[in-house]
Amino acid sequence: SHPTKESNVDVLIIGAGPAGLMAATWMAHCGIKARIIDKRNTKIFCGQADGLQCRSLEIFDSLGFADRVWKEANHMIEICMWNPDENGVIRRSDRIPDTIVGLSRFQQIVLNQGRIETIFMDNIKKYSKDSIKVERGVLPESLVIDESKVDDDEAYPVTVTLRTLTEEESAPPQVISASKVPDGLFRSNLHEDYDEEARMIAASRARSGESGSEVVHAKYVIGCDGARSWTRRALGLELIGDATDFVWGVMDIIPITDFPDIRMRCAIHSADHGSLMIIPREKKMVRLYIQLKEVTPDATGRADRSKITPEFIFKAAQKIISPYKLDYEYCDWWTAYQIGQRVGNQFDVHNRVFLAGDAVHTHSPKAGQGMNVSMQDTFNLGWKVALVVKGICKRDILSTYQSERRRVAKDLIDFDHKFSRLFSGRPAKDMMDAEGINMEEFKDAFVKGNMFASGLSVDYGTSNLIVRPGNAAEQGDGTEKSARLALTAKKITQEEFAKKQALATEIPVGKRFNSFKVLCQADGRPWHFQERLKADGRFRVVLFAGNIHAPEQKARVEKFCAKLDAPDSFIRRITPKDKAIDSVIEVLTIHSAKRTETEVLRDFPEILRPFDEHVGWDYDKIYVDDISYHEGFGDAYKNYGVDKERGCVVAVRPDQYVAWVGELEDFEDLQDYFEGCLKMPKVSSAAKVTEKVNGLVE
Ligand code: FAD
Repeated sequence: SHPTKESNVDVLIIGAGPAGLMAATWMAHCGIKARIIDKRNTKIFCGQADGLQCRSLEIFDSLGFADRVWKEANHMIEICMWNPDENGVIRRSDRIPDTIVGLSRFQQIVLNQGRIETIFMDNIKKYSKDSIKVERGVLPESLVIDESKVDDDEAYPVTVTLRTLTEEESAPPQVISASKVPDGLFRSNLHEDYDEEARMIAASRARSGESGSEVVHAKYVIGCDGARSWTRRALGLELIGDATDFVWGVMDIIPITDFPDIRMRCAIHSADHGSLMIIPREKKMVRLYIQLKEVTPDATGRADRSKITPEFIFKAAQKIISPYKLDYEYCDWWTAYQIGQRVGNQFDVHNRVFLAGDAVHTHSPKAGQGMNVSMQDTFNLGWKVALVVKGICKRDILSTYQSERRRVAKDLIDFDHKFSRLFSGRPAKDMMDAEGINMEEFKDAFVKGNMFASGLSVDYGTSNLIVRPGNAAEQGDGTEKSARLALTAKKITQEEFAKKQALATEIPVGKRFNSFKVLCQADGRPWHFQERLKADGRFRVVLFAGNIHAPEQKARVEKFCAKLDAPDSFIRRITPKDKAIDSVIEVLTIHSAKRTETEVLRDFPEILRPFDEHVGWDYDKIYVDDISYHEGFGDAYKNYGVDKERGCVVAVRPDQYVAWVGELEDFEDLQDYFEGCLKMPKVSSAAKVTEKVNGLVE
């Protein structure tokens, strides 16, 4: 018999962990026809990742659910470092803030992965109007790319055969263990099981033959199926790197202890028994990351997992933290893993099948990066795929996924390498102890690492989505592919760029748009400006209009707006005839004149506050940098490094990364930027005529 079902879908997402769910969220927010499948019959409920960095929270806010996560999570405010004193007894040697002060309006928090996945699913349900649901117990049997069709925008070049399992076939295998506690070892890298999918498929075939399969033709496939990714193996791609000798245990417990910093994040280096990391969690729980010095990998590099039990792991923790007492009655979850640092050699095939998350990078979990970087991979990719499917962006923007994210993955591996070595090493006894780890160096790495670990140091290189200068060979992830990409980008010299960047010194091109408070001009309400940069798939032009009451400045603003409003402007041409003018690109204004002397309708051209015949003028587009009644003064112009009189213009991508900065007079450059990445309809001759009529041609 043949598969009975056959269908087309724009985007197929394989795997519903954090990376897959983020991809599905973009599809829901952009109204894309998408499916998301997962071989497991349930989501996870406890354990695994839990740390959320500031950038992930900013992203959650742009999607509309940071508040839920923020309320439920445990907030980590301080890190305490514990080290052996001259008698080898641990003592607190330092305290540093957990999140660098002033970096973001959010700080690092912890909440278990299972809760985060639930909140994602609620958001997907809401935005997709229940049309995108995780299809559980479904896995791919085969994946074929028709290379003759990969350059055709309308084609569905990827054919995936899917198989639906029964409840029993899709239940995760359990490792036999004496403990009653949910045990994460069966998913740990100490227990790699590459035949799992093959066994699941064989069992299902024996039961239902071909009728248990369906054929799906997809425009794009996103493989988010974790560290042992089936999709990666189906594409013949590899992770490159090595496993280290360090083996760590993880336990989520409610501790009973006299250790004074048990509700702080702690890094403890004992003199002889290894290291311990304490992560305070929600619901009185604490996560312990425990170095297992007594488990050493064998000649093949594999650690023996037979002796790894919760009792064994906990004994190691008790030794490290002594002379303090540590005990527990309740354990929520435990696992162990061997640190491996690997990164994929390629993140996509023909820009049609992509890999994201653990499928393309693995590293130690202690720095709390796994889930964050994985979600941010698909936060980078999702809107690009969605806008290409919609015909708004050119297909070649998809190459920026690898050039932008593989570089982040490589930076992460380097960071992790250094951090793991410093954390897993024995502390130096004195200055002469060259093999030991210098604790000052450790603290220094921690402080520097905190910047990296916030997710805010991400800085994307030159492409048709980011206008900055650059030697092509140094761009992106250092591959030939991203060098080619940089060559196709619009050229800007170092000098020219420096002049433009000087207009907004604290809005660096390539980084995420930072947030300061501004007031809505119409109603005086304070907003963090980033709250207005919603993840709805729209690009944005932010007009820093400056002092619009100065006649010369007002003339500049009016001239810029006239060009924006002209029929051949990028915004008019890219907006479909039947859609609102802000449906593809939204223009937001921040001015610096006094709020009480300014009026939305009187002082701003219509393009900045468009009219809709059903709902009237748009009062949510114009903001002012002024003092508020209840929340102080955001001082946004100063904080953004923008001149209060003259302002500037900034283009922002749908994922909040800064794409371009220029003067109000640089309209043509802004137009070029959008010509470079959008699939812009040609200028009509009628448009030219209207422009003349409007008297705009100088
Ligand atoms: P995953 O979360 O692994 O999701 C992959 C999904 O794909 C799964 O739901 C899986 O069922 C599904 N899938 C796999 N194969 C197929 C297939 N063939 N077909 C269909 N679906 C498939 N990170 C930390 O920061 N701290 C920690 O303490 C920590 N502990 C961890 C402990 C364990 C045991 C594991 C496995 C991971 C841990 N991590 C930790 C890592 C963190 O969970 C990951 O970095 C993060 O979940 C990556 O997200 P992802 O979506 O890329 O992959």
